[in-house]
Amino acid sequence: MKNDQPNIMRPFGLPDSASTPVVTPLSASVVYASRNPDMLDAHYTGELPGYTYAREGHPNADALAERIDALEDVSGGIITGSGMAAVTAGIMGVLQSGDHIIAGDQLYGRSLRLLQNDLKRFGIEVTFCNATDAENIQNALRINTKMVLVEVVSNPTLRVADLSGLSSLLKPKNILLAIDNTFTTPLSLKAADHGADIIIHSVTKLLAGHSDVTLGYVWATNKEVNKSIYDFAVTTGMTPSPFDCWLAERGLLTFPLRFEKAQENARQLANFLAEQENVKRVLYPLRPDHPDIALAKNLLGVQGCNMVSFELTKKTRESANRFVQNARGIAFAPTLGDVGTTLSHPASSSHRALSPSQREDLGISEGFFRVSVGVEDISGLLITFDNALKTL
Ligand SMILES: *Cc1c(COP(=O)(O)O)cnc(C)c1O
Repeated sequence: MKNDQPNIMRPFGLPDSASTPVVTPLSASVVYASRNPDMLDAHYTGELPGYTYAREGHPNADALAERIDALEDVSGGIITGSGMAAVTAGIMGVLQSGDHIIAGDQLYGRSLRLLQNDLKRFGIEVTFCNATDAENIQNALRINTKMVLVEVVSNPTLRVADLSGLSSLLKPKNILLAIDNTFTTPLSLKAADHGADIIIHSVTKLLAGHSDVTLGYVWATNKEVNKSIYDFAVTTGMTPSPFDCWLAERGLLTFPLRFEKAQENARQLANFLAEQENVKRVLYPLRPDHPDIALAKNLLGVQGCNMVSFELTKKTRESANRFVQNARGIAFAPTLGDVGTTLSHPASSSHRALSPSQREDLGISEGFFRVSVGVEDISGLLITFDNALKTL
């Protein structure tokens, strides 16, 4: 019988070629055809490399994972559809009802919410601790403590976690140390070298770097734990989009250059702000006046990262409004890690759910700002900040 509609038959396949594309091809396909059931079996067991269904994995996610693995000096990392998906899979793919987790008390806003509101519904106990001293965590340990989750540099007051204290406390007890390395990135700190059993990234931020993708990364040193996180992510549909992975891979190619420039800008901006009379205090991990300077030097060396926080002398909403309106050309947006400098105001965004006195305990007044410093020409950036401060 003659087939008069050959064009609808799939797959088409690509033309044969002996040469290799320099850019990773974008593979939008959700399904991958195998030659026969034996081959499909071999894909599922991992004997044969290949793909079956994009929720389970696809080439663009693997290409991106390998690049982030290389930066962290690990292998087997998993790409998820967002940083929060990575945080969720890293916790819920591992813990079960009756377990206890200790977390830093200044985590990313949604991570705090997950721990505070959602884990409770699944019977997981949570304690929040100031992670700048491992002794606080030691005092919070329970018989059922299974995991400790910290960010190396906290949001938004940029306090530094006592990673060496935590690692020597937790290793002998077989308690997993999960490190969210988003702010610090593997260029300032390879998390596994500092005792991370689980590494988490919001790839959305510095790694992708252009505010045009939402992605996460999670890795566990133990193969079974890693598999359990992978299975949870796949089952709950935390699938990353191939196009986002493709863009993030492209962004990663310039990550070291961007990070170097943004750090240098951040250092200069922090030093500039510290000298302004309309600025009460500046927080930057490598400044001698940082409250955790010894920890910061130890962990970060000379890599102070690109985040600077500061407080206006006038701690009123009115001054905050005026400062933002006059900081022309700087996006007022609650994100970080973009090529352009962005400004965020925790009291009206990430920390708006807290009462003013809770915010005060954390040192977050109406005059408190967090800057994610970009890669612009530094002189223009300093002029912009100078002009905005002069209007107060
Ligand atoms: C942004 C962020 C997340 C969440 O990442 P998304 O990609 O926005 O879901 C988690 N942890 C930290 C430290 C972050 O900055």
